[in-house]
Amino acid sequence: MKFSWKNILLWSLPILVTIFFVWQGLLVPNSNEAGKNVASSRMTYGRFLEYLDMGWIKKVDLYDGGHTAIVEAVGPDLGNRIQRIRVELPTLGQELIPRLKQANIDLDAHPINNNSAIWNILGNLVFPILLVGGLALLFRRSNNGAGGPGQARSFGRSKANIQMEAKTGVQFDDVAGVDEAKEEFQEVVTFLKRPELFTDVGARVPKGVLLVGPPGTGKTLLAKAIAGEAGVPFFSISGSEFVEMFVGVGASRVRDLFKQAKANAPCIIFIDEIDAVGRQRGTGIGGGNDEREQTLNQLLTEMDGFEGNTGIIVIAATNRADILDAALLRPGRFDRQITVDVPDYKGRLAILKVHSSNKKLADDVSLEAISRRTPGFSGADLANLMNEAAILAARRYKEAISISEVDVAIDRVVAGMEGTPLVDNKSKRLIAYHEVGHAIVGSLLRHHDKVQKVTLIPRGQARGLTWFMPSEDQTLISRSQILARIVGALGGRAAEDVVFGDSEVTTGAGNDLQQVASMARQMVTRFGMSQIGPLSLESQSTDPFLGRSMMSGSDYSDGVATDIDKQVQTIVEECYKEAVKIIKNNRVIIDYLVDLLIEKETIEGDELQKIIQNYTAIPV
Ligand code: ADP
Ligand code: MG
Ligand code: ZN
Repeated sequence: MKFSWKNILLWSLPILVTIFFVWQGLLVPNSNEAGKNVASSRMTYGRFLEYLDMGWIKKVDLYDGGHTAIVEAVGPDLGNRIQRIRVELPTLGQELIPRLKQANIDLDAHPINNNSAIWNILGNLVFPILLVGGLALLFRRSNNGAGGPGQARSFGRSKANIQMEAKTGVQFDDVAGVDEAKEEFQEVVTFLKRPELFTDVGARVPKGVLLVGPPGTGKTLLAKAIAGEAGVPFFSISGSEFVEMFVGVGASRVRDLFKQAKANAPCIIFIDEIDAVGRQRGTGIGGGNDEREQTLNQLLTEMDGFEGNTGIIVIAATNRADILDAALLRPGRFDRQITVDVPDYKGRLAILKVHSSNKKLADDVSLEAISRRTPGFSGADLANLMNEAAILAARRYKEAISISEVDVAIDRVVAGMEGTPLVDNKSKRLIAYHEVGHAIVGSLLRHHDKVQKVTLIPRGQARGLTWFMPSEDQTLISRSQILARIVGALGGRAAEDVVFGDSEVTTGAGNDLQQVASMARQMVTRFGMSQIGPLSLESQSTDPFLGRSMMSGSDYSDGVATDIDKQVQTIVEECYKEAVKIIKNNRVIIDYLVDLLIEKETIEGDELQKIIQNYTAIPV
């Protein structure tokens, strides 16, 4: 990097911009000063007067020549905590002053700064000037010809985000539930520690190992554990960092990476998200990406370039092996693939043990029960879950994590943060009917998962939720189970329809219907569960954006496509009829449950079960 004034200016541009914003924010006393006083909530003047009468106002700061006040208030509907609230005052606050004095409230006024207009104009000018100046410099820099490959390379090197950890500190014991992968890797560890065992008998050790699996299943952790167990340095870089807009940077980063690794052998090179560079060549949408291909070629060259026994092992991770370039998977490159999947019951239990070993658990917490309740959770989800529970326990001043924190944490990981419930109005009733619809249909169908709870407390995107207790790991699902799920998912819309009428149904069922459509279509095209018969009509990978599946069209004729649509339609229609029937036949209990739900906001599964049994025991 040359230290010319241009370079210095170029690099200082972001700093100047930052300084500008800080200056705008802190120094320029503009008319918005009141807003800077973290008062995210507001209240009306009327409400403020009410609060004043009740004696809930503790302190008043006047801003803006009396147009605005930031008040500190305590009140039962403020959670009994002191909160800063913003109030717009209609009367410049003068007539308030005697009242405030009388009530003995702390009062302060902050004058407007008269210079503010000038400061504002100056402030607003500086930014455009900086921007234009910076852009001009950038253009000159890229036009003056010196910015050829040489400069690009040094640019790349100075920025290359290769991370080196001399000791990762991760051991195999920290990774749980992936026993097969660990076994495979044991061999790699032995090789890194005692290569002579292999070289003496003339064995060739794999240069590259590809870890395939969904996000959060512990691929990075495994790679680190290998380095940790073998006591060798760990070089890591993410595939997406190879691919940048400066041509040639990717390839030069690959070269750098291997150069550094060779100097530190034996070691592990870890390439995360290798699909970012290693995607099948020539399938890029909108023309190939030369930069990516160059990077990939460089990677292939480097991998061929060193002998297997120099002590470098390249581990790459991806969640899609199917879109990788075939050249990457040839012998002598990533010829060994290890799949790391979402853990099963036993795996989850083992991971939970790892992540609770440093936490205090109350006696009522059973890791077995948590593991049973969390099918589909990845290792990262489980780690997150235990951490959330611990944070919650700390916030509640508990000495150990109890089952109630775990419950909240599971809900949070599955469905996002809790929101505030709606006030009682028509739409709350409608949501209640919708959820009770899911719950009742789910409860009455023999093949449906059991209802765990119904709640009107919104979470994430959902405004109400019905939780089902997933049955044990669901690798094999029968036709009647899928059908039951479809009927259950339609229960919400069916209830809206039956209770409020066709014209009142809402968009609330959008998500349900999406699931329904996907389940019904898969029944027909993947699982051979329709009248078309046991034909698989679609390949598994249907990602329209990436890789090979783009190239291969559908494997069936237009006629079959029409048949598929018809079958899907029939399935959904039948299921909807069934859902409507169940809702109509159980209207009394549904009305009762809705009232109960609106009152209590949450009904637990056991209680629901009891209520339903009591009712259905009475013959209609
Ligand atoms: P990936 O690279 O597959 O996306 P990571 O290795 O980054 O996943 O996992 C993220 C975190 O999740 C880890 O740091 C660890 O705390 C936890 N985790 C994931 N899988 C496991 C596992 N099998 N055993 C223990 N912890 C795990
Ligand atoms: Mg990772
Ligand atoms: Zn729904």
